[in-house]
Formats: sequence, C-alpha cells, structure tokens
Amino acid sequence: MNFHVLTLFPDMIEAGLHTSVTGRALKNGYIHLSAVNIRDYTINKHKKVDDYPFGGGAGMVMTPQPIYDTYKHIIEKHDIKNPRVVYLTPKGKVHNQSIAQDFSKLDDVIFLCGHYEGIDQRIIDLIVTDEISIGDYVLTGGELPALILIDSISRLIPGVLGQNESFEEESFKDNLLEYPHYTRPREFMNLEVPSVLLSGNHKNIDKWRYEESIKITKERRPDLYKKACK
Ligand code: SAM
Repeated sequence: MNFHVLTLFPDMIEAGLHTSVTGRALKNGYIHLSAVNIRDYTINKHKKVDDYPFGGGAGMVMTPQPIYDTYKHIIEKHDIKNPRVVYLTPKGKVHNQSIAQDFSKLDDVIFLCGHYEGIDQRIIDLIVTDEISIGDYVLTGGELPALILIDSISRLIPGVLGQNESFEEESFKDNLLEYPHYTRPREFMNLEVPSVLLSGNHKNIDKWRYEESIKITKERRPDLYKKACK
C-alpha cells in the first residue's frame, strides 16, 4: 500500500512512521511512504504557500497553486487512477476503525495536511474525495492526524502485524472494547490476576473475556454497546 502525504513538514511525517510497527512495515515493504513538500512546488518567487483570506479575518490560508501542482506531480509520477485524496480537517467525518478498514483495501491513498487557517476551498472542490477529522479539537496542522490515519490503516494490512500481534481481537472488533490484560507477576502490590486466567480452561477464559468486554463497553461507550447488540 502506498501512502502519499502532501505537507509543509515532510520530516514530521517521516519521523513519525519510521519506528515500531510502521517502521518495520516500511522496511519490509508492506507499506510505502512518500512525504512531499508542498513548498517545493510553489511558483511564488519568495516560496510563499499562504496568503490573506479574501473577505478579511484572522490568519492565513494555504494557496491552491502549490497544492494542486504537488497533487498533479504525485498522480502522474505514480500513475494513480481515481485517486482517493483525504483532507485532514476538524470539519470532516470523525475517524474510526471502520474507515481505517475501508482504506486498508486501497493501493494508494493521498493525504493532504493543512496549516494556518486551512486550505483554499477550491482545492477541496477539485481534488479532495474524503474529509476526515481525528476528533473535536483543533490542532496546528494536519500532520499528526495524517500519522494517526496511516498508523491505524497500516495495522490492518495483512503481514504488517507479527504473529504475536493481532488486530482481530482489538477494541472495536464487533463494536466492543477490549477486555483487560494481565501478565507476570501473579500478584503485584497485593493485587492478584483473576484466577480464571490461570486456570488453563480456554472456554472459561474466552467467556470471562467476552463478559469483561461487554461490561466495559456498556459502562464507557453505551453508543458502541447499542451497535454491538444489533
Ligand atoms: N480554521 C480551521 C477550522 O476552524 O476548522 C482549523 C485550521 S487548523 C489550525 C490547521 C490544519 O490542521 C487544518 O487545515 C487541518 O489540516 C489540521 N487539523 C486541525 N485539527 C484537526 C483535526 N481535529 N482533525 C484533522 N485535521 C485537523
């Protein structure tokens, strides 16, 4: 799977992905990353990529020309047909596991990271296919949201997680949150591991885990629990 990121801060994208699971996935060729600097494509002689908003108001807006030219360069270089272009924005649909699952089936995804007050609307009208938010708060730029999406999508690509790691039993599978985990020692600060986990009876262990999942989802995420019951 190829991730293409249009950004003013390619180093931030590179640094965020070259460690842990995504770092290994890059090294082993399960995912590919190209973080392209929008500023390299501006035709402004001062290398500017932003300008004052028409109609006035605070802040600056990213101009359309450098973004459009960066996009053209990417789709032509990689011969991408029907590109999926995600603009990270607080105005978008809030990201979730099922969106990550849909994206994990694609060959190429292009992410567009905004900065300042955001980007010129005409870019959204011309090239953006999906507007996605990572939550109801405002960040400085789209780089952290792009990293979050890439991480959540990468984990779902076959081969990315090792044999001892699995997305099959993680939170949000069947709209349930995950059960609690315990490891050695058996007792820590007078707190003991639930005895069922030491019993070796896998039927009982599965039952306990399922019940814990139900309990925690019901308590913390009644909205998810409702969906799980459907
Ligand atoms: N003026 C914009 C607004 O009120 O909706 C916020 C602009 S924000 C300072 C700059 C950039 O950060 C946005 O263009 C977007 O790419 C990114 N961004 C900020 N918060 C985000 C969020 N919750 N989800 C996704 N992207 C976000």
